[in-house]
Amino acid sequence: MNVLVINAGSSSLKYQLLNPETGDLLAKGLCERIGIDGKFTYKPQLPGKEKIDAADVAMPTHSEAIAAVLNALVDGKNGVVASMKEIDAVGHRVVHGGEKFARSVVINDEVMAAIEECNPLAPLHNPANIIGIKACQALMPGVPMVAVFDTAFHQTMPPVAYTYALPYEYYEKDAVRRYGFHGTSHKYVAQRAADMLGKPIESLKLISCHLGNGSSITAVDGGKSVDTSMGFTPLAGVPMGTRSGDLDAGILEYLMNKYGMDIKEMLNILNKKSGVQGVSGVSSDFRDLSNAAAEGNTRAGLAVDLFNYGVKKYIGAYAAAMGGVDAIIFTAGVGENSADQRMAIASGLEFMGVKMDEDANKVRGEERVISAADSKVKVLLIPTNEELMIAMDTAALVK
Ligand code: AMP
Repeated sequence: MNVLVINAGSSSLKYQLLNPETGDLLAKGLCERIGIDGKFTYKPQLPGKEKIDAADVAMPTHSEAIAAVLNALVDGKNGVVASMKEIDAVGHRVVHGGEKFARSVVINDEVMAAIEECNPLAPLHNPANIIGIKACQALMPGVPMVAVFDTAFHQTMPPVAYTYALPYEYYEKDAVRRYGFHGTSHKYVAQRAADMLGKPIESLKLISCHLGNGSSITAVDGGKSVDTSMGFTPLAGVPMGTRSGDLDAGILEYLMNKYGMDIKEMLNILNKKSGVQGVSGVSSDFRDLSNAAAEGNTRAGLAVDLFNYGVKKYIGAYAAAMGGVDAIIFTAGVGENSADQRMAIASGLEFMGVKMDEDANKVRGEERVISAADSKVKVLLIPTNEELMIAMDTAALVK
């Protein structure tokens, strides 16, 4: 079975064609600058097939972008399937499923209407996801499509974890609550962790640290998300590449009054100019920060320390929330690649049974136990694979 996984943004579209049963990736790529000057990349993963990296491809809308993807996939010379008949289903990443979607669903008219109702919760993302779905439906009639939500995995959180201490009517009338994001990634690595540990996921208390440009930490008890660091929006939690993470809302009023900023300008600062970029003044990329810190830039060092400290605090908080922890998982760009940051985050947690293995930790992007053999809490490095998780969910629903 082959599943086409689509992640549509407002002017871009990422895709992968994969076999969820074997985990084999057949091809992947990216359509960028849709509606501008169209850039198209196609990377077939089969031997003898040539990749495409083309600029100025006519892509006035997502429909032309998806048509370009389908043409490349079935192309006689460099395609990876013989015909469209070999694309059995499409899995669409959808950012926000609100409280309506606690799991992935087969898309029909009713589901489309419900996704549209979630648009106000993710005004930058959901409308683009919907455009991607509609474009696929038009070009691939009769092919089953599934929506996989970033928020769905976290719908198991109890009220005590998702309720904000605001007047309750804002929850009841306006759906203001913690939703959480990166759910597909947290779900995937939690399942892999159970496989690696050889234990049923129902018996495990896990803390999943998705540390990338955007970062979130999730407490997974018995396979269910019970708390997560992102909130109503992905702005909450630990400091990120350019997002502030948690802060005192009183700061907003103080700065807005002092500098005559409106809320749009303030939010632009919180989303795009804060985080490790804001503190360091150097970069949002942790590699640049480590290099700058090594050369003596103290603000770059502070930014990395602030991030590591924030992650450590969430690990402590979630161990307390679950009454223990069996394993801590590191994933995504920083979690998979930065041995130093994993070490900095895990050091000082010996009191709760975490003991790292320095040599085992010297690794990148490979599934591995990186705690010492006698560590009570296992520490795991697990590369995330959101596309495979989307394909697996899709296959399970359309079979
Ligand atoms: P992601 O959002 O998961 O793609 O992660 C992207 C981030 O991973 C980049 O912004 C980098 O800061 C970080 N990253 C990638 N490789 C490394 C590395 N070797 N050391 C530290 N950070 C890294």
